Amino acid sequence: MATYEYRCPRDGAFDAAYPIGQAPPRTRCATCSAEADRVFSAPLLNAVSRPLTAALDRAARSAEAPEVVSRIPGRRGTPTRPNGPTHPGHARLPRP
Ligand SMILES: [Zn+2]
Repeated sequence: MATYEYRCPRDGAFDAAYPIGQAPPRTRCATCSAEADRVFSAPLLNAVSRPLTAALDRAARSAEAPEVVSRIPGRRGTPTRPNGPTHPGHARLPRP
């Protein structure tokens, strides 16, 4: 069984369950028994959170056209690396 959406002219949208592929184009409204037309709508697109959708879209775009960056991405306004060396041993390395 699958859930299909119908729209009654008086009562609005309602769902009805039919076997897959056997949903009639019109059915009776459960409230007023009037003829209701089948409605085709996007299934469960609101179930995915907006941040997840954005991440999936970014990953899909990255597969075809990766973003070019000029520095290591970090928090906005915060340098990714402090001015001084991060490890005391780095101070002993030869300077260019
Ligand atoms: Zn109705």
